[in-house]
Amino acid sequence: MKRIGVLTSGGDSPGMNAAIRSVVRCGIEAGLEVWGIERGYEGLLDGEIRQMDRSSVGDILHRGGTILKTARSERFMEPKWQDKAVEILKTFGIEGIVVIGGDGSLRGGLELDSRGIKVMALPGTIDNDLSYTDYTIGFDTAVATVLEAISKIRDTSSAHNRTTVIEVMGRHCGDIALYAAVAGGAEYVLLPEVETDVNKVCLKIIEGNNRGKLHSIIMVAEGASIKSAELTKIIEEKTGKETKQVVLSYLQRGGSPTLNDRMLATLTAEKAVELLKNNSQSKAIGTCNGNIVAYDLKDVLKMPKSFNQDLYDLVDVLSK
Ligand code: ATP
Repeated sequence: MKRIGVLTSGGDSPGMNAAIRSVVRCGIEAGLEVWGIERGYEGLLDGEIRQMDRSSVGDILHRGGTILKTARSERFMEPKWQDKAVEILKTFGIEGIVVIGGDGSLRGGLELDSRGIKVMALPGTIDNDLSYTDYTIGFDTAVATVLEAISKIRDTSSAHNRTTVIEVMGRHCGDIALYAAVAGGAEYVLLPEVETDVNKVCLKIIEGNNRGKLHSIIMVAEGASIKSAELTKIIEEKTGKETKQVVLSYLQRGGSPTLNDRMLATLTAEKAVELLKNNSQSKAIGTCNGNIVAYDLKDVLKMPKSFNQDLYDLVDVLSK
């Protein structure tokens, strides 16, 4: 292996730049040429590929987003374009690539792998929805952003004795909402993984009110069975308390990555380079109990994501 590529794909996440920096600098240290592929698989199909040197990744470690840009590529879902992508990589002499993205990006990587390209996948998504790793790159920063927002919302919500429904990202996996609910002291959390009875949410608010708890924070993942706007209306009607909706939306995607995300990005990228250098078969890299681990890429997307019921129950215990 002489020349490797690196791309970011799917939704951006804080820490992607730290990963790119580590791939480039560890790659060059290992005697490899590192080429950056712009705009994920879409840019690959357009041949947007350039060689990177140490200084091309200077001053990006602390920045959210991705200097390589990212995209969702409809074309790349089709086998004929996947063939084309491999042809382009071969034209550039790129034998292996590091793909930084979520589950869709890993599926794309698997297509390249089946066509003879070595692929090392890093879990780049704020959603924490990849089962093979404890955490994904960007999740910690996203939750930190949500916690900062909760603190501010608490101030005003307590001043007005009001209930606030906060919607956060997470279509299939509610980890951002769940962790933010535990660490941010929410009264209730609604997740895609759990069917929620809205009456129970209202009852909790009323019971709290009767005990003298005059304001409440309700966390809702965007993929929960009831949408936050509808929930806000129902809570206001049933509890008789002023209830506001806050949608944090893309705020959660940006910002300087936390220590945890920088370390996760830097160390998984270092491992990816080591595996490519050693001509390993394609792997997905992440962490297990704090250690860097690498599993066969073909296996990781079949692993079911387990739901943390204990953490979910704890939200209730802590807010009684
Ligand atoms: P996020 O978790 O932030 O949504 P993601 O990587 O899951 O990130 P997707 O939009 O699902 O984001 O996937 C990114 C790109 O990967 C897609 O636009 C497509 O080009 C490619 N991709 C996704 N699924 C497949 C698949 N089954 N086969 C080939 N390529 C795929």
